[in-house]
Amino acid sequence: MNGMEAQGMAPDTGPLPLAAVPVLERALERAAGRAFKAMNRAHQEQRGERMWKLSMSGLGGCTREAAYKLAGVLPSDPELAYDTEARQAMLGTIIHERFLPVFGDALAHAEVEMPVELRVPVYADDGSVEREVVITGSTDCYTHVMGGGVIDLKTIGAYMLGGVEHEGVREEHRTQVRGYATAIRQWGMPVAWVAWLYMDRASGEVMVHVEPFTAEAEQATEDRVRWLWKLAATPDTAPRGHRGPGLSVECDGCAWLKECFGPDAEPGDSRSLQVHANEDIAYAARRYRELLDEIGPLEKDKEMYGAMIGRPKPGVYGDVTVTFGASSEKTDGKRAEELLREYGIDVPKTARRGNRNVRWARSGE
Ligand code: SF4
Repeated sequence: MNGMEAQGMAPDTGPLPLAAVPVLERALERAAGRAFKAMNRAHQEQRGERMWKLSMSGLGGCTREAAYKLAGVLPSDPELAYDTEARQAMLGTIIHERFLPVFGDALAHAEVEMPVELRVPVYADDGSVEREVVITGSTDCYTHVMGGGVIDLKTIGAYMLGGVEHEGVREEHRTQVRGYATAIRQWGMPVAWVAWLYMDRASGEVMVHVEPFTAEAEQATEDRVRWLWKLAATPDTAPRGHRGPGLSVECDGCAWLKECFGPDAEPGDSRSLQVHANEDIAYAARRYRELLDEIGPLEKDKEMYGAMIGRPKPGVYGDVTVTFGASSEKTDGKRAEELLREYGIDVPKTARRGNRNVRWARSGE
């Protein structure tokens, strides 16, 4: 028995037959999906009960989810947090684990993955302290240089890097990092600035934003925690941070999906958003029509500017970058139909619902 047979592998039978290539490709793709799922599950299991508690990253996220967590509402859909492939999040986790220790070494006087605790007193009407809300987390990096600073690593897709440069730090990221900074200050350690290191997950390119950390920023953090605590009294009425299943990846992976959108809510399916009362339909239809009226001229302008851009050489033009996706082939439906007919094969059909038309009603209609 040779070494391969001993390990349960077949002996050399020559090159793979070409017909087996697509089968093998699909099998490897599925294996990659299973690997991501297993990684996510292991990661979440390691977090244990902390998954359902409000953490610093959740402080800036969906307000309703934060309210559920603060209220101690048990997740209605825990499997959505465990059983997804969460590829981008997993890649981000791997980069954090490998990059942060060496990044810390490259900076002077830095500590990485430092656990912190934000403590915010909540006051009763008579001014006495009713309770203390405690939110835990772990800062990516704290350095003592330049009066003390908190640095957060954010791994993002390449398409987002230009947006960050143009629009600045996203508000939820600002809230999260201010939470770490406030917690560190509460310990008595100085924090004069906060920074975000946005990293393109594909190329490793980074874009850095630094802001002074002010007393107002600290106050805003405490105010948000107190507001969330108030909302936690009736979390089902807290403002939703995202649009809903089928429309937002956050909702599709949220462990409180059914709690938030009702027992029929399913990830990837927007039907649970449907309203049934006449006045609710009237409200949604009016907003839909108003938005169509706003978007229509913009769409036309977009079309015109698109035609003006044409297909120039990819590159930076002024303050925008113009690139083109890889060319690909698409099925020629018309030709495929002709061929099926030529060979006497019925063309397969699926039911299609008529288009939704929403127009202003005429008087007396
Ligand atoms: S389902 Fe969406 S809106 Fe509702 S709590 Fe979860 S993330 Fe927020």
